Amino acid sequence: MKIGIIGGGIGGTATACALLRKGFDVTIFEQAPAFGEVGAGVQMTPNAVKSIIGMGLESDLMRTAFYPRAVTGRHWKTGRENFRIDLGGDFRAHYQAPFVHVHRADLLDVFVSNIPREICRFGQKCTGISNTPTGAQARFQDGSTFEADLIIGADGVRSVVREAMFGAGDLRWTGHQCYRALVPTGGVVDYVAPASSFWMGPKAHVVTYYVKGGEAVNIVAVTEAAEWVTESWSTRVTRAEMLADFEGWHPDLQKLFSGVTDVYNWGLFDRDPMATWSKGAVTLLGDACHPMLPFLSQGAAMAIEDAYVLAESLALNPKDLGAALAGYEAERLPRTSRVQLEARERGRTYHLPTEEQMAARDAEYARRAKEDPRTTGINTDWVYDYDPRGFADRLAAA
Ligand SMILES: Cc1cc2nc3c(=O)[nH]c(=O)nc-3n(C[C@H](O)[C@H](O)[C@H](O)COP(=O)(O)OP(=O)(O)OC[C@H]3O[C@@H](n4cnc5c(N)ncnc54)[C@H](O)[C@@H]3O)c2cc1C
Repeated sequence: MKIGIIGGGIGGTATACALLRKGFDVTIFEQAPAFGEVGAGVQMTPNAVKSIIGMGLESDLMRTAFYPRAVTGRHWKTGRENFRIDLGGDFRAHYQAPFVHVHRADLLDVFVSNIPREICRFGQKCTGISNTPTGAQARFQDGSTFEADLIIGADGVRSVVREAMFGAGDLRWTGHQCYRALVPTGGVVDYVAPASSFWMGPKAHVVTYYVKGGEAVNIVAVTEAAEWVTESWSTRVTRAEMLADFEGWHPDLQKLFSGVTDVYNWGLFDRDPMATWSKGAVTLLGDACHPMLPFLSQGAAMAIEDAYVLAESLALNPKDLGAALAGYEAERLPRTSRVQLEARERGRTYHLPTEEQMAARDAEYARRAKEDPRTTGINTDWVYDYDPRGFADRLAAA
């Protein structure tokens, strides 16, 4: 089967790797002159790590990974710990994979380093897609075309493939803006815990964690705004602007923020879950079909799970594309829809406006943690439990 992938982000490159492993003929089209990711971090939760292990890329991932000791929730001003999920041996044994932090460029490289250059077409901006009597055709800005048995739209939240197949749909401003920055620390420092730390304050939260094997700290700092005023998704801002939004927050955070040099401010948009992702010989994957808020740290994770399952479903149904795409959607769409909606809900619970509401939330987190330390406040057991490697068995049982 000849397959074209539009988009060479984390989803597109992961899909290329998964398909190549199964022996498919793959070509990947990226609009940029080279593969590249923004200088920031990404949390790889056990479900994502299981997909990467399933693709045989575990050692590539672990080369630059940082192993956090815990996920902790902290009070924005006092630093008081409100919840903790220990990420040690019991956690790894329970979920059959570790929870790790990586730099986004390093994660992209896990996939890119396993893709032959001759199947990559750079500077190819897709402008349209249509089904043909024998498959599907992609059209590009330079006037060229590409025909294949299957075309996969992995072209992100503003997907051209999605628009061509299903219309533009509503892209919703969520009311959140997000600062992203990386601080080189040269190792673990006493003012940043070796954990995934969630600092929750009034109408804002901050997540900090180490990447590059502990050489740098990634910051994601989310506040609220009535509207997103610039045309771009992200803009460069000053350290002073970021510090001003977090005045009065804990001194450890202020110290970390003062080491920031390059800061980007992102507008956070999302969409409602879709009813279907496939039409004829065209399907979607990653942010193209399920863009989500970053509050469950699952956008890249979901794209990687999609990649694993799509390749598996195509390999199980090599002569029946309809059945392969139906199997892919049946496995993936309910899960990604739930993650999209839960991530949206976190935007509310993480941003309660008053100390009274925050105290009630934190007491509930503590109560749940006592009942079952794995669930705690953020209740992510069902997210981490998923193992894409069980897809074939689930399909056979259905
Ligand atoms: C602040 C923040 C923090 C996050 N933290 C996490 C986290 O901790 N864990 C996690 O799992 N996820 C996280 N995410 C989500 C994650 O970054 C995304 O969900 C993921 O990168 C989506 O991958 P993708 O390949 O689907 O899309 P993209 O990364 O957007 O890639 C799309 C690619 O397609 C190319 N492209 C676009 N249009 C065209 C076209 N017309 N023709 C050709 N090429 C095209 C683009 O250039 C790009 O390379 C976070 C997101 C944000 C904003």
